[in-house]
Amino acid sequence: MTNLSLRPSITALKKANYSNVPSHWVTDWLLYVLQKSASFLITDGDYQLTESEQIQFETGIAQMQSGTPLAYLTGKQAFWSLEFEVNEHTLIPRPDTEVLVERVLGWIDNHVQSDDRNNSSKRLLDLGTGSGCIAISLAHELQILAPNRWQVTAIDYSQPALEVAKRNANLNDVSHIEFKQSDWFSVLKDSEATERPLFDVIVSNPPYIVNNDQHLDKLKAEPLSALVAPDNGLGDIKQIADQARDYLIHGGLLAVEHGYDQGELVRQIFIDFGYDQVETIKDYGGNDRVTWGVYG
Ligand code: GLN
Repeated sequence: MTNLSLRPSITALKKANYSNVPSHWVTDWLLYVLQKSASFLITDGDYQLTESEQIQFETGIAQMQSGTPLAYLTGKQAFWSLEFEVNEHTLIPRPDTEVLVERVLGWIDNHVQSDDRNNSSKRLLDLGTGSGCIAISLAHELQILAPNRWQVTAIDYSQPALEVAKRNANLNDVSHIEFKQSDWFSVLKDSEATERPLFDVIVSNPPYIVNNDQHLDKLKAEPLSALVAPDNGLGDIKQIADQARDYLIHGGLLAVEHGYDQGELVRQIFIDFGYDQVETIKDYGGNDRVTWGVYG
């Protein structure tokens, strides 16, 4: 017979220290296992886990200790004001990336919405959409800012990632978004049947980590193809900045996320390719995170 008194209580679990697992992951994981909201941990500290809850809890802790992020265990991650499904095919949305969403919305509000009285339809492209967090958050806000005006296109090379992104669009009730499988812009090239589309805004959180970066050890559960780029981490950003010039309207905006130490290099890439008003924006932790520029 199981000795009930050995079953851990919530209070005991909260006090325990699990090496390599941030304490908020422990609490969030506990809430997930118990299917309760945060207040339960305060009001019901004496609650003792059932055997199956205890097994699930401990198995998850062991997985996190060996490098699985919490979001892959729960299958979800909050980003912006929305919730996103994630799995091993997608990068886990980072709070730092919200600064890209926020500033691009601000730019659109200042430059597109207020500047343009004819109400023409507008297009936004997200390259390397992954879970879809950037494209879907922007589409969600643009629908409020300017109902039915913006058409959003989200591209990824990975078909399994696109399946996740499509489900995330449905989960968040965002319908004015199309998903395409493509190696960056290649699917958008002119063909005899279709004209090359032009976008008012192009955004991307591309891979930008250097192959031998020690930081990668901590990210081993996430898809390397979404993280690592050649040419000191700048290969994909260069390709995007170069090719985006063929897909932006005159005065259109390109905004890319990059590493905390890449601001100056990315500004130079933008300037070399002829972008104007090139500027780097810091994330909420005070690190260079996004560079943008206007083309034409
Ligand atoms: N910002 C992520 C990290 O450093 C990487 C994201 C990316 O490569 N696009 O953890």
